[in-house]
Amino acid sequence: MMTEFMKYPFLDLSDATRPFRDELVEAARRVIDSGRYVGGDENLSLESELSGLTGATHAIGVSNGLDALRLTLRAAVETGRLAPGDKVAVAANTFIASVLAISDAGLTPLLIDPDETTMNISSEGVAKAVAMGARAVMPVHLYGCLAWDEEIAAETERSGLFLIEDAAQAIGASRRMADGSVARAGSLGDAAAFSFYPTKNVGALGDGGAATASDEKLAQTIRTLANYGSDRRYHNVLIGFNCRLDPIQAAFIRVKLAHTDRLNEERRKKACIYNESIVNPAIVKPAMPADPNAAVWHQYVVRTDSRDRFRDYLAANGVGTDIHYPTPPHMQPCYASLAHGPLPVAERLAATVVSLPIAESTSTDDARIIAEIINSYRG
Ligand SMILES: *Cc1c(COP(=O)(O)O)cnc(C)c1O
Repeated sequence: MMTEFMKYPFLDLSDATRPFRDELVEAARRVIDSGRYVGGDENLSLESELSGLTGATHAIGVSNGLDALRLTLRAAVETGRLAPGDKVAVAANTFIASVLAISDAGLTPLLIDPDETTMNISSEGVAKAVAMGARAVMPVHLYGCLAWDEEIAAETERSGLFLIEDAAQAIGASRRMADGSVARAGSLGDAAAFSFYPTKNVGALGDGGAATASDEKLAQTIRTLANYGSDRRYHNVLIGFNCRLDPIQAAFIRVKLAHTDRLNEERRKKACIYNESIVNPAIVKPAMPADPNAAVWHQYVVRTDSRDRFRDYLAANGVGTDIHYPTPPHMQPCYASLAHGPLPVAERLAATVVSLPIAESTSTDDARIIAEIINSYRG
């Protein structure tokens, strides 16, 4: 979008790749020499490493994050956990993929206005969804912050909802619960979906994704659906797809997955600098979670009523920004006929959010300078 040179780019993926170059080359060499180009050991190793990281019993590598979501929802229908047409509650300000997955599985998206402070679904939102007949809830850990607390857990359990996390932006996020246990993204409910799209905190060099699940039958059904619906070679029990993860991407993902906590910590440092240093009445900063580990800061999203002017000002000062997301799903042409109530918060957020640089291409020193530039903005 902004093609002019930025001293502080929003994101430069080559900066994210460079520190891992030698390991990535070695990973590629391993796959090239293995003679195994679909499935195999790289995928199995990634799946067991992902189980370890998330605490989920089962992990299944798939082609991308959207496929992880849609195959999991289809598997929930195949296994009888959900029925065709069931309502699935999801925050109305999510990325379109969350909603596309619900539609693809023959289920009904139930868009819930998010909490304006956390920008995520609240326990009140989940309760409202239950009252409206929701049979499932998809907490989206938007911008990398867990959409999860004791109240949501209690509401989900009380109502017997199927819970699928959209954890595409939140790999490695965790939260200490009141009873002292640690809840980790990927093991908060029945299933979860992760994305390794190159811009995500742990990115592949292409598309990649994974589903996690607590139930063996559900996990097996996701795996079967992703592989032509066959439970063994040339034996098709479901009308499936080819949504497999390439082993070369699995090998690349494994390189970065081993550094998940450090990569997240680096983003956290920059979020803390922004949070402490940005002081400007025209700019609303994102809420910091009580447990710092609950946010992995996929994006650092501020809000302002004068967004275009703010972005132009930042660009003129060499700071690249982006918008996540300018148009909420219910205002997209493809969802013109989707029934929903008023969604004023989602619409207000879409009109005011601005994402600041926070990825590997931004240093902590850069974050301090960007904060100063923002403080000099006259809204
Ligand atoms: C990236 C993303 C997805 C989809 O992942 P892909 O790998 O791009 O298909 C789904 N939900 C959210 C919230 C995302 O950010």
